[in-house]
Amino acid sequence: MPHTLPRCSKLNMMMKLFSGRKDTPATPTTASDSGPEQSAGNSLFSRMKQAVSRTRESLSTQIESLVARTRTVDEKTMESLESALLTSDLGVATTTAILAALRERARRQAIAGGDELCALLKEQLIAILRAPQGEVDPPRVSPCVTFLVGVNGTGKTTSAGKLAAWYRAQERTVLLCAADTFRAAAIEQLEIWASRSGVEMIKTKHGGDPSAVLYDAVSAAKARNIDELIVDTAGRLHTKSGLMDELEKMRRTAAKLIPGAPHQVLLVMDATTGQNGLNQARQFTQSAGVTGIILTKLDGTAKGGIAVAIAQELNLPVLFAGVGEQMNDLLEFSPKEFIDSLLG
Ligand code: GDP
Ligand code: MG
Repeated sequence: MPHTLPRCSKLNMMMKLFSGRKDTPATPTTASDSGPEQSAGNSLFSRMKQAVSRTRESLSTQIESLVARTRTVDEKTMESLESALLTSDLGVATTTAILAALRERARRQAIAGGDELCALLKEQLIAILRAPQGEVDPPRVSPCVTFLVGVNGTGKTTSAGKLAAWYRAQERTVLLCAADTFRAAAIEQLEIWASRSGVEMIKTKHGGDPSAVLYDAVSAAKARNIDELIVDTAGRLHTKSGLMDELEKMRRTAAKLIPGAPHQVLLVMDATTGQNGLNQARQFTQSAGVTGIILTKLDGTAKGGIAVAIAQELNLPVLFAGVGEQMNDLLEFSPKEFIDSLLG
């Protein structure tokens, strides 16, 4: 297994599908690495491919035309590739690293032509995405406490709802915690998701102390033998020290009740914000102990390269991709399927 699920979901780590879908085959199998043509991988692969179709248009078209006109791979080819990668949000650092690896490979053994160059590029991209995903599955804990953090509007509340449904489909019991007490609408919004996904939710009044509602939620999760506690938090900028302190207080609160909690801190990042989002994520990662990324809005005009930049520059695994506003629009992230979707 080249990459792992979030640490709490080992139970179903063989399921690479988004299993809430009605058309999910009865016996899902590992789909990520056996090739997207495998039947079980098909629905995830085709959904991913469809979701990133707009991204695909730009990157794929450029690479395809490069491949088509390249007979021998020379420095000019490398330069064209470099600009294609830069325009797809990979960023300078990641592009430079990829180009260096390809040049090194070309020095050792000539790259035969455009097709081989493309294959090597895909290998590189997949390897970068896999690197932070870890080889060993960490022990499963119950209740597993997951914080969703990030700036305003990235999709935290929506992702909390989708994630609740995703875990439910994995036969895990789920409790939601409405710890965004800052925006009154956030509590109602999460409540709608809770009822859609058929899970309970712990809340407090608008303006209440997020750590207090978290305390109640963690206590309830323990008392009710809940597997997954998903905590929606208020949007915050890493520069607002008061809000970052509040997050730290929430971490301490969770740890007091369950040593080791929160087990996951997932940064919810809007893929359409590109390199700006990456900078924010970098700061956030340093101050909030982020363990993984939910990359949302990949169904929009996002340039998919940002996923690779996250892995390369932040050394964080992208665990889920948001591909729409509906409950089913959360895909477990698979490096191979993602890259095959982009550069198939
Ligand atoms: P929050 O402020 O981080 O809690 O963000 P919300 O969950 O309220 O989402 C902000 C907006 O983004 C809402 O209109 C969501 O429907 C939308 N949204 C969230 N995730 C996705 C996604 O994956 N794709 C699309 N197209 N929209 C999304
Ligand atoms: Mg919200």
